[in-house]
Amino acid sequence: MKTALIDFHCHLDLFLDPASAFSDAEAAGIYTLSVTTTPKAWPGNRDLTQGKRHVRAALGLHPQLVAGRATELKLWEEFLPQTRYVGEVGIDAGPRHYRSLDLQQQVFAHVLQKCAAAGGKILTVHSVRSAKIVLDQIETHFSRGEGQVVLHWFSGSKSELRRAVDLNCYFSINAAMMSHERGRSLVEAVPSDRLLTETDAPFTSFNNRPTAPPDVRNTVKALAALRRVGFEEMARAIESNLRTVLRGADLPVQD
Ligand code: MN
Repeated sequence: MKTALIDFHCHLDLFLDPASAFSDAEAAGIYTLSVTTTPKAWPGNRDLTQGKRHVRAALGLHPQLVAGRATELKLWEEFLPQTRYVGEVGIDAGPRHYRSLDLQQQVFAHVLQKCAAAGGKILTVHSVRSAKIVLDQIETHFSRGEGQVVLHWFSGSKSELRRAVDLNCYFSINAAMMSHERGRSLVEAVPSDRLLTETDAPFTSFNNRPTAPPDVRNTVKALAALRRVGFEEMARAIESNLRTVLRGADLPVQD
């Protein structure tokens, strides 16, 4: 039995040819979670996952777009019952998006409250320069046992990482995070039972081309090297973590 590889955060709808991107991920047998950035994009993405065994879409409202798209929050709420996957959501306190920080916090609080009330949702969360705010909000609005938060491309401090672990968060790791010493040291501190992998495709690159879900193999390779285990052992641990996150339902991780 071959171990499944997992890309738990990418943007297939932002590829040049989204329909092919969805089909290619399916054909490659990569368990792929394709996030969306606006609620209006949801129906099209949902439809592209029809009949696919390996690819799912998540319903998002990207923090970098909140300034112009907060009015779509109602639509986000309407679509929420259609999926257990939510993202990309979160907070971006980087200089380009700082002005909308208050609005971002209102939107993210609302998203967390709605997901907590619905139960069983799996969230892929952006936290650029905002780990503390994001964790405060998760603690306040998304109590344990009502769903699962996966922190995507986490870049907080080690103490924030420990806090996230205490809050029961998982971490989806990409190769770019391990391209510098600070990132490697942070990734090393993630407990093995909280690791998932991602590409954030097409926003990362490999050999001077945009990534795609099969490139997640490089992330598993880098993680295995960092943790001094074999590729297969690393891949199996990540697959087992995905099973835990999914609680055995949906996206069946079998042969
Ligand atoms: Mn992303």
